[in-house]
Amino acid sequence: MGRAFVYVILGGGVAAGYAALEFTKKGVSPGELCIISEETVPPYERPALSKGYLLPEAPARLPSFHTCVGANEEKLTPRWYKEHGIELILGTRVKSVDVRRKTLLTAVGETISYKILIIATGARALKLEEFGVSGSDAENVCYLRDLADANRVVDVMQSCASGNAVVIGGGYIGMECAASLVTNRINVTMVFPEVHCMARLFTPKIASYYEGYYSSKGVQFVKGTVLLSFEIDPIGKITAVNLRDGSQLPADMVVVGIGIRPNTSLFEGQLTLEKGGIKVNGQMQTSNTSVYAIGDVAAFPVKLFGETRRLEHVDSARKTAKHAVSAIMEPEKTDEFDYLPFFYSRFFTFSWQFYGDNAGEVVHFGDYSGNTIGAYWISKGHLVGSFLEGGTKEEYEALAKTTRLKPAIDDITDLERQGLGFAVTV
Ligand code: FAD
Ligand code: NDP
Repeated sequence: MGRAFVYVILGGGVAAGYAALEFTKKGVSPGELCIISEETVPPYERPALSKGYLLPEAPARLPSFHTCVGANEEKLTPRWYKEHGIELILGTRVKSVDVRRKTLLTAVGETISYKILIIATGARALKLEEFGVSGSDAENVCYLRDLADANRVVDVMQSCASGNAVVIGGGYIGMECAASLVTNRINVTMVFPEVHCMARLFTPKIASYYEGYYSSKGVQFVKGTVLLSFEIDPIGKITAVNLRDGSQLPADMVVVGIGIRPNTSLFEGQLTLEKGGIKVNGQMQTSNTSVYAIGDVAAFPVKLFGETRRLEHVDSARKTAKHAVSAIMEPEKTDEFDYLPFFYSRFFTFSWQFYGDNAGEVVHFGDYSGNTIGAYWISKGHLVGSFLEGGTKEEYEALAKTTRLKPAIDDITDLERQGLGFAVTV
């Protein structure tokens, strides 16, 4: 016994919310669509969890950041789903999927069948145990992927006012959480294996610009080493972290952001995987024609760079979702997905955007002792990537437009001299 739907979205995160909105725009009928999610709330804008949610004053709380407010579209509250006849099956984990029979089995034993399945299972945070360190279950160790994690960060933060936090990882979670902890008057030490923060995207010069500000706010950096073990007191709380370089840091709380793994396990052996995700074509369709994949879990062709990529950012989650629904509902009107990779972050009063690819030679521009800094990446004689901190809406739009054009660059010195002006005038 079980329910049957025409369309099932598996996962209730960012991509699911944007897909639901697009379904209603394309005219889905009541009762045709269902979203199944392990989370107990309808889709929300996950980026808020490391930013507004952690503010000491007037923090963001649901329902204010349900999708799709992040793209200035409608806010999809529980009522919205009801009014549109979209079934929300929340707090429910899907434990197996049979793509041949077109059925899903939930953890409570219900079988749900579909005509079209959209996989939007996102990713899970990597655990320290996967790097040989135990102690993740201590009450003052925090990860940050979902609302439950964010509530835990808030609770632990409140219980260690003016204390010491160790942030493990120098990526997005590390940078954004460190800033939020400082704003909550907690002393922060960041520990990461690379020579500078955000090593996969930032150049040493860009990293040094932000690290300088973090240091001025009291953040200590311990680079080039990793966590070895925790000191744990008799009641199971971490009191200090031991690092591989032999040093020890006192800790009233630990925040871990050491990367993610896409949630593909339900489909291993059933669908083609690539780049750690589920491989899709330019219509977001997997190796099974009745199954689509969107968001963090999808490895899709990025036409602009002629290769398959899996991106872990909210803009690609929103746009792959929209594209998949369009391909499902209006296949004849839907071209191949043509996406310009776009990443952004906000911490303290900073705000940056990045477009394209960070490959090749780098040209920095702007005032690295001031408020507006930038960089271009030049590969095989063409501008392929651009970064800007502190830009205006028009400047970011110009940057995106120029990067998509991949203009030929004959004279790098001239590009450096023109700086942001180059993008604005192309
Ligand atoms: P998710 O939003 O992770 O949703 C996946 C959903 O699937 C979840 O609801 C999960 O419970 C559900 N699920 C998984 N497996 C099952 C199962 N078996 N059964 C039922 N349900 C299941 N990106 C940016 O570009 N800018 C930012 O500033 C930014 N900030 C971020 C801050 C934080 C704290 C985090 C964690 C991420 C941030 N990101 C940011 C990344 C962005 O949020 C993700 O790229 C985006 O959420 C991906 O959307 P998704 O729908 O693919 O996955
Ligand atoms: P990231 O991949 O951004 O960063 C992980 C960091 O942890 C890297 O510096 C990595 O180093 C380091 N690391 C890896 N292993 C260890 C270890 N054993 N000890 C210490 N450091 C280690 O992942 P995050 O966890 O920061 O973010 C999780 C997800 O959330 C990502 O998908 C991210 O895109 C998303 N997110 C995006 C935001 C945004 O776009 N603004 C904001 C917040 C989250 P190395 O590079 O050497 O592996």
